[in-house]
Amino acid sequence: MLRVAVVGSGPSGVYAAQALVQQDAVPQVHVDVLDRLPCPYGLVRYGVAPDHEKIKSLQGNLRTVLEHERIRFLGHVEVAAADAPPGTGLSTARLLRLYHAVVYCVGAARDRRLGIPGEELPGCHSATEFVSWYSAHPDSSGDAFRGSSLRPVHSAIVIGAGNVAVDVTRILARGAEELRPTDMPQPALGALAGSGVRAVHMVARRGPSQGKFTTKELRELGTLAGVDTVVDPSELALDPRYLDTAGLPAAQRRNVEVLRGWSQLPPTGGSRTIDLRFFLRPVQVLAGPDGRTSGVRFERTEPEGPSGVRGTGRYEDIQAQLVLRSVGYLGVPLAGLPFDPAKGTVPHAGGRVLRDGSAALGEYVAGWIKRGPTGVIGSNRPCAKETVASLLADAPALARREVFAGDPLTAIRALGLRPVTWPGWLAIEAAEADLGRALGRRSVKIPDWAGLLAAAGGE
Ligand code: NAP
Repeated sequence: MLRVAVVGSGPSGVYAAQALVQQDAVPQVHVDVLDRLPCPYGLVRYGVAPDHEKIKSLQGNLRTVLEHERIRFLGHVEVAAADAPPGTGLSTARLLRLYHAVVYCVGAARDRRLGIPGEELPGCHSATEFVSWYSAHPDSSGDAFRGSSLRPVHSAIVIGAGNVAVDVTRILARGAEELRPTDMPQPALGALAGSGVRAVHMVARRGPSQGKFTTKELRELGTLAGVDTVVDPSELALDPRYLDTAGLPAAQRRNVEVLRGWSQLPPTGGSRTIDLRFFLRPVQVLAGPDGRTSGVRFERTEPEGPSGVRGTGRYEDIQAQLVLRSVGYLGVPLAGLPFDPAKGTVPHAGGRVLRDGSAALGEYVAGWIKRGPTGVIGSNRPCAKETVASLLADAPALARREVFAGDPLTAIRALGLRPVTWPGWLAIEAAEADLGRALGRRSVKIPDWAGLLAAAGGE
């Protein structure tokens, strides 16, 4: 029998666990899926927007995998990050002594920064902070958005043109009543209901043909009740590939056509607007007299080469009381694992972790920590399969590794850690359903550590 630890219970971790138990080869594989949170599903629970219920329903598929007889979920078990204080969490070295192999599927937990003056001002945040808050992530304080914080915000700027930017733009523009049927925590719903936001400016530094968003997500911005989607046709026309779409890949061509359609629509007098801007590069977050964010200064860019842009020396200020930067994620190094800081990933060959250029027996990666923060949820399935194929090819050598003879869970508990096992997670789910009933809503997420651990039964 091979004992494998998968670190991370998001899509890549669960797909890796599934691929491990699905194989027919001997030896049989038993998998512990570890997560630092008491709840499984990673970004499907804490990243996918609450109003994207179809994508959220993937949790059902992930759940079936985690209930497999040879898979065990162990939540509330942290594997130490490189910058964690000594003694915090399980070390990577110890994991290797407990399991024949470890597959790290820890995602990309940090957000990229803009590196411009003013980024630290109150009122300027990462989209991840906003997403974590409305997704009830227990690490989110939500201080910046809670209560009546959004009331004085009339104009918001979202920097970036990926799907996360589209998500936060939509959540800011959508009426709270439409979010009520979701599992959004009650305080976030209340704060959004009291929000003063009337305009959301989503700003891209390149052209409409270079947006990273997918067409389905983009198109949805045009379907929100009471919201006008505004695009300036002359700004779109700065992009040569907007004027001539012949050479564009189908996905980009579809995006451009959606934007063209909006640019021709008359305003409907909706109570909110989404203003999509292009060829504007952020250079400074501006401060108002109260020391809070009052807007962003952008430099107008123009196309350079096939897909680049260059500055023009012309500037435009957009006023806003809230700025969310949504410019992608970065992986976080784990103590004891090699890391490529430029890419934010762990160096690997076919999913085998590379130490000084050679594959390290017993250590593997899958998902965003392997390939960077790109692709949709489904992209993780082939990625995890490739890694598991490498692991299984190593199985004879892995089986010869000397590891702890007993149950790793006993050893983990002996370290003073208090894992939340599957019954604990089911108890959290039940408590969230109860909370929803008490509020006259469907299941509503518990947003804090104490509440989650108490619901898990003090495990
Ligand atoms: P992303 O797709 O990589 O988009 C990042 C955006 O930030 C790009 O528009 C990029 O512009 C811009 N950017 C980067 N640095 C910048 C800077 N210094 N100044 C201004 N703009 C800058 O990242 P993401 O939106 O965080 O999404 C991550 C992944 O999750 C993606 O694969 C995404 O599809 C996926 N996701 C999917 C869904 C869904 O399917 N519904 C929802 C959320 C996320 P350039 O192109 O010019 O670099």
